[in-house]
Amino acid sequence: MPEASPATPTSASKPKSAPQKAMEKLGLVRDIDLALHLPHRYEDETRVTPIAEAREGETVQCEGVVIECRVELRGRRSLLVKMADDSGELLLRFIHFYPSHQKTMAEGNRLRVRGELRGGFFGREMVHPTFKAVSEDTPLAQSLTPVYPSSASLPQVYLRKAVASGLKRAALEELLPPGTVPARLPSLREALDFLHHPPPAASLSMLEDHSHPAWQRLKFEELLAQQLSQLRAQRERARLRAPALRAARGGLHEQLLVTLPFGLTGAQQRVGEEIAQDLARPAPMHRLLQGDVGSGKTVVAALAAAVAIDAGWQCALMAPTEILAEQHFKKLVGWLEPLGLKVAWLTGSVKGKARQKMLDAAASGEAQLVIGTHAVIEDKVQFKKLGLAIIDEQHRFGVAQRLALRKKLASQALEPHLLMMSATPIPRTLAMTYFADLDVSTIDELPPGRTPIVTKVFADSKRDNVIAKIRDEVAKGAQVYWVCPLIEESETLDLKNATETHAELSAALEGKVVGLLHGRMAPSEKAAVMAQFSAGQMSVLVATTVIEVGVDVPNASLMVIEHAERFGLSQLHQLRGRVGRGAVASVCVLLYTGPLSPTGKDRLRAMAETNDGFEIARRDLDIRGPGEFMGARQSGAELLRFADLQEDAPLLKAARELAPQLLDRHPEAASRQVERWLGSKAEFLKA
Ligand code: ADP
Ligand code: MG
Repeated sequence: MPEASPATPTSASKPKSAPQKAMEKLGLVRDIDLALHLPHRYEDETRVTPIAEAREGETVQCEGVVIECRVELRGRRSLLVKMADDSGELLLRFIHFYPSHQKTMAEGNRLRVRGELRGGFFGREMVHPTFKAVSEDTPLAQSLTPVYPSSASLPQVYLRKAVASGLKRAALEELLPPGTVPARLPSLREALDFLHHPPPAASLSMLEDHSHPAWQRLKFEELLAQQLSQLRAQRERARLRAPALRAARGGLHEQLLVTLPFGLTGAQQRVGEEIAQDLARPAPMHRLLQGDVGSGKTVVAALAAAVAIDAGWQCALMAPTEILAEQHFKKLVGWLEPLGLKVAWLTGSVKGKARQKMLDAAASGEAQLVIGTHAVIEDKVQFKKLGLAIIDEQHRFGVAQRLALRKKLASQALEPHLLMMSATPIPRTLAMTYFADLDVSTIDELPPGRTPIVTKVFADSKRDNVIAKIRDEVAKGAQVYWVCPLIEESETLDLKNATETHAELSAALEGKVVGLLHGRMAPSEKAAVMAQFSAGQMSVLVATTVIEVGVDVPNASLMVIEHAERFGLSQLHQLRGRVGRGAVASVCVLLYTGPLSPTGKDRLRAMAETNDGFEIARRDLDIRGPGEFMGARQSGAELLRFADLQEDAPLLKAARELAPQLLDRHPEAASRQVERWLGSKAEFLKA
């Protein structure tokens, strides 16, 4: 084999330049990626404004001859350049400059400069304008100059060139059959050429608010790709087979209903019926059960589990935290073991012999219901006959975990049914688009006898009054949660904060038990503290957000959230949902430390104004936008870049109508459309 000459490295081994690396980081790898990297604004270098006509505060391009260039030494050292055209004079001021600046802007040179015009003490001036030396016949730009989203190590000039050549090379031929694109929209090629290099006369406002037909075409394409990929996933699923699980007369399901300490609400009965119908079909259920915090999803899950088990299949229930999994375990054991069912417990912290025993019980089918954290989906866990998998608080599981679960479930000859539960309701528009491959059941009613939670917002300066209030309430037998925020990337600080608060409250509430719960504690320690609080032997529980999801202690009636401004809206709502679970009137106090950001203010206001999880979700969507709402940013899967589900509803409708036609009649074009737009992201859309 000939040795590779060091003088001619292959392209694969060539070290990447900083801008190249920066481009990769922005996901700009393929030509199509570059073509779809759109400017977020434009600069107008297509015309020159006479100096005298430029208005203060406006960003303009002027051209003239340098009449003076000198370095000012008094005060701050700076370079001052005076230039003039036929209409007037303009001063250019540079605080950072190199000798090359002086050379380019030497007296007598002709300059084209662009910057914001200011009315300075010495007359009209621009501070740090862009500039270049020109001659009288240097042509002006033919189109608006694009300014691209970029990063510090990626200069605009470099990026502009890369995008322009990517755009030229990208395969942008029309994939959609004639007559299927909404009328008056340009072709994709035309739309992109236009958006990257709009002519001087283009309406900047239509470009900026994305209402221009070129933008519409782009959004339509994106929505279509998304609809296609979901429709494909839906059809793939429809071909799969699952065990048909029917509730038998007088079976476990009925027995559980009879022995429950309460009757179901109308909403629980309705969603229970929807789930039962899915389970009875020989195709896998793929259903999201959404219901506000405290609406009683667990019992609906237990009833579904009873149907599956009665039919001779196993059921798995997964929760995102050990505390929650353990609580489910206790509750379900309480309901189901009296009926003769065998419930097993599996989390990451179950080790050694106990773990092996559980694994054996799952593999032999002896464990009819397995409850745990995501440890339940690990490779080593095998079920004999898994018929139903239930995921609680599904939004808390990462996209990768959800994909792992789906792969795992797909390994049986018959797929299990899948029930996902969430207290973070997904607004209808989102449910329809992100989850086209998902059926949704909604519990829209709380169990009877609940008193609405009163939410109060106080500045942190009122902390002592709040503690005094706690003392009164605790004396009357109340139980209180005190939540300390998670300080991002600093578990230590986080802990210090919680520990200090714990000491402070212990001192203020002499004679009462004040407990502490945080993420660094061993699962057994956490469980012990939770058990003490649940049993009513503890007055105050100081906790970091480990209590955020699902915890159910009906006697707790007061919750204080410290630094409430640091929490997201749905997180605050989840936390608040830990109180108001019994008949006692509950209060939630949000303490904040100012100054509040505008969105921080919006969040606290929303909390004070409504208890309704759907309303909260709607406002959260308004504040954060759909991408972040779905937590997609964290997973790295950008779901919709251009389209907005609410604003672009008409385009969405058109895309929904076209998707099935395209898939049936032009499957090849449909595949290419998905590949062009989603590439590797298509996988994520299925999760
Ligand atoms: P979530 O939907 O937030 O998971 P849970 O399932 O934890 O709510 O239920 C909240 C509380 O309400 C639990 O204590 C549960 O036992 C109780 N509960 C559920 N359904 C009913 C009902 N129909 N009537 C009375 N209490 C109920
Ligand atoms: Mg729950």
